[in-house]
Amino acid sequence: MRLRTFESFGLIKNGLLYSYPSVQENIETEIVVVGGGISGALTAHALMEKGYRVTMIDKRDIGQGSTSASTSLLQYEIDIPLYQLAEMIGEKSAAKCYQAGITAIKDLDALVRKHRIDCGFKNKESLYFAHSKKACKNLQKEFELRKKYKLGVEWLSAKEVLNTYNIVCFGAILSASAASMDVYKLTHELIHLNVKRGLEVYDQTEVLEFKTNNTKPLILLKNDSKITCKKIIFCTGFETTKMLKEHIAKLFYTYACVSEEKIKLPKKIFDTLMWDTNDPYIYMRTTDDGRLLIGGEDSSMNFSFFQNHIKEKKTTALIKKIQHIMPGIQYIEDFSWGGSFGSTKDGLPYIGKSSEWKNALFVLAFGGNGITFSAQAMDIIPQLLKGKKHELAGFYRFGR
Ligand SMILES: Cc1cc2nc3c(=O)[nH]c(=O)nc-3n(C[C@H](O)[C@H](O)[C@H](O)COP(=O)(O)OP(=O)(O)OC[C@H]3O[C@@H](n4cnc5c(N)ncnc54)[C@H](O)[C@@H]3O)c2cc1C
Repeated sequence: MRLRTFESFGLIKNGLLYSYPSVQENIETEIVVVGGGISGALTAHALMEKGYRVTMIDKRDIGQGSTSASTSLLQYEIDIPLYQLAEMIGEKSAAKCYQAGITAIKDLDALVRKHRIDCGFKNKESLYFAHSKKACKNLQKEFELRKKYKLGVEWLSAKEVLNTYNIVCFGAILSASAASMDVYKLTHELIHLNVKRGLEVYDQTEVLEFKTNNTKPLILLKNDSKITCKKIIFCTGFETTKMLKEHIAKLFYTYACVSEEKIKLPKKIFDTLMWDTNDPYIYMRTTDDGRLLIGGEDSSMNFSFFQNHIKEKKTTALIKKIQHIMPGIQYIEDFSWGGSFGSTKDGLPYIGKSSEWKNALFVLAFGGNGITFSAQAMDIIPQLLKGKKHELAGFYRFGR
């Protein structure tokens, strides 16, 4: 019998890095960030930098939401190809959303360097490869548009991809801008750093009701304590869909696994994120300790909790796919896990104000590149708090 964990590799590897008290008395503060995942960590950091008094609360321990399940690929590439997004919101606007992803990766790099945060941040390239002949035609169209908007792309033939990456495909876009890191570790370290500068953090704090209609929003907690503030920023991840009447995302489960260490791979793969054009797509990257991480095999949410046998089936399917894509690979699974996931109609996040909630802003970084969307909130949220407009907030608005 081989026993395996159902927890994510990142969580097992790091453990619970920091623990905080729960709220046990009434609190008055300026801004409450609800949610201690990567969105909350980056938003709280940006607000601390601007001098706000910030309090963070989470009903779980810090980083225990989607952030602990994340495979931490940092991509400027949105789940919806640029040419399709251009059809939805216009070519120039779509290109701006893609360019914002490149800026977000640079911003994360600068943040990690400035504060010397040890989270395995590594700049890489990204290989987006065609899984079929038909998909290759669309990928070429995608390439031309990305080239037009100077997104740092190069076209690789099927032969070049096979020779360099040992990947069987029909052609690929190689992008210069991408990175990987340990987002769980970044979340914890960034929050910890800000705690030293005055950020108040409370975990295991259950909310009974958010009352945002008053001039001063009020948060009533299950233990009868209260928090009063001027503004609430909801960084509450996929569970936020339950708070909103507006249908903003389709939810499903997604799966990932990592190989044992010292897997033999072509050298270039260690510097490259890889994903294909299939639906659902498969994606891969190597880890700091020489493993190959693969993910994909999404499934519907028509069962209300994760089931181990489905996870096992999905992991087997992922490994079969990788053996098909990379002939001869010796992939020995070490850990596998699953997580909830949400995608929006245009692949873009929801960042800003919802007409359903007064005195509140939302950072809902849904989609395959949720982390780069969370990073964009660092610039957007302080602007919106000052009552100013932000071009990206226009693309990411509620009610669109
Ligand atoms: C398997 C998997 C792989 C992924 N891979 C990638 C990837 O490679 N690259 C990428 O960019 N993204 C990836 N993602 C998506 C990415 O992980 C998410 O976009 C990101 O972690 C979301 O962070 P968040 O802070 O918004 O949400 P979360 O991490 O879920 O944090 C929300 C927090 O809010 C708290 N909360 C919720 N409601 C309340 C409430 N009412 N009161 C108090 N607290 C509350 C929760 O407890 C939680 O801690 C992946 C996701 C999964 C599941």
